[in-house]
Amino acid sequence: MSKVQQPYAYRRRELVEPDWTRLPGWRQVTAADWDSAQWQRAHCVKNVKQLRDLMGDLLDDRFYVDLERDQAERATMSMLVTPQMLNTMVDGVQAPMPAAGHDFTEAFYADPVRRYMLPVFSDRRTDWPSHPHSSRDSLHEHDMWVAEGLTHRYPTKVLAELLSTCPQYCGHCTRMDLVGNSTPQVAKLKFDLKPVDRHASMLDYLRRTPSVRDVVVSGGDVANMPWKNLEVFLDQLLEIDNIRDIRLATKALMGLPQHWYASDVVDGVGRVATTARQRGVSLAIHTHVNAAASVTPAVQRASRAMLDAGVRDVRNQGVLMRGVNNSVEALLDLCFALSDGASITPYYFYMCDMIPFAEHWRLSLGEAQHLQHSLMGYLPGFATPRIVCDVPFVGKRWVHQQEQYDTERGISYWRKNYRTSIEGDDTEALSRDYVYYDPIYTLPEAGQRWWRETTDHDALLAESATRAASSRLVAESQLV
Ligand code: SF4
Repeated sequence: MSKVQQPYAYRRRELVEPDWTRLPGWRQVTAADWDSAQWQRAHCVKNVKQLRDLMGDLLDDRFYVDLERDQAERATMSMLVTPQMLNTMVDGVQAPMPAAGHDFTEAFYADPVRRYMLPVFSDRRTDWPSHPHSSRDSLHEHDMWVAEGLTHRYPTKVLAELLSTCPQYCGHCTRMDLVGNSTPQVAKLKFDLKPVDRHASMLDYLRRTPSVRDVVVSGGDVANMPWKNLEVFLDQLLEIDNIRDIRLATKALMGLPQHWYASDVVDGVGRVATTARQRGVSLAIHTHVNAAASVTPAVQRASRAMLDAGVRDVRNQGVLMRGVNNSVEALLDLCFALSDGASITPYYFYMCDMIPFAEHWRLSLGEAQHLQHSLMGYLPGFATPRIVCDVPFVGKRWVHQQEQYDTERGISYWRKNYRTSIEGDDTEALSRDYVYYDPIYTLPEAGQRWWRETTDHDALLAESATRAASSRLVAESQLV
């Protein structure tokens, strides 16, 4: 046997559902309650008080203060965490439960699921909280709507945002422009049309556009759409002859697996999958898992229920985030938990998009390239995830596909090989360089200096302080 260890040591990990009765607020919760999607939805944590009621004296006050400040001054998503997801934070599975107070609080701060589902003020950068080129709709999906909520960015595929809510809200959500409730920092856009009219106009576009063959049915999260309404939409989609691939996007397969293994939903998916198979259409589920601890027996049950019901595959599209999964161990542990434990194919890891206040999560392109290199060779080729950079106005590119990379200033340049729906007359679209930016604090000093000298850094910081102060005044005036 070699004396030199592999960089990553594979080990089979049994999935475990953490014991929810370890948390004071759930001491009396029965397995039947836990198993119910309705109970899970009714007991989500939506504010600091509810987190206090659940955690009792496990967490120190400083955490709640930190969380409250983040909600007021930084958060782009409102708080909404399912019991299923909360139960995977400091889960007592890989390590014994820390003592209440200081030890538990430190472990909670360090927890990867906590870091993106319950972000706190002290997590965020104070030098460059947002990149100067960050924006609310950083992928410009809204600009490419061909019907309300229907983004046509690639030649043969579209994204249908059927609704703007989810059973859980992720701090880093790339659709923070539209998804969820407004926060003090972000007033959300609202759809104008009624859902039934919006869905009809999407279907109408797809009937008129035979070049589209692939529809990502998304939101938000389709688990928040009453199943009967989703089934009506899917049945109509399946009647369109050019549609050959349908992918249902739902983080709830992990965040609220109880929804997906509920018998009415399993039966409904079975009906749609049967029709899809008869018509030669590939129906798959795409989920969003970022940490190995999130993969529990309940997630396995939901995934296998979907496969048994007839979906062709369940695939994971995670997001690469510092402090959550930015090491080869964290990524491979997650991939093996998904694939060995829950029959979910690791598919993509997206680089975190350039939305406001996301700099502490984002990685540089160079870091992402290194992680892609380190992942190779451990998993079967079809289950080796690609790390992708979603370049504004371009779309997904594998992280090694850049044309040029200025590592001092953290600017990468990309090309594309197709026109989006808004570039029909743009003769330069395929020869133009499109840019993506690394987080500034990851750059060498010369690059950081360049950004300080060419950007009105003080004005950016002042603007976010002013927005935070005015949001506090509004909040205080509402309390009077
Ligand atoms: S589930 Fe998806 S759409 Fe919903 S908040 Fe999370 S990242 Fe955004």
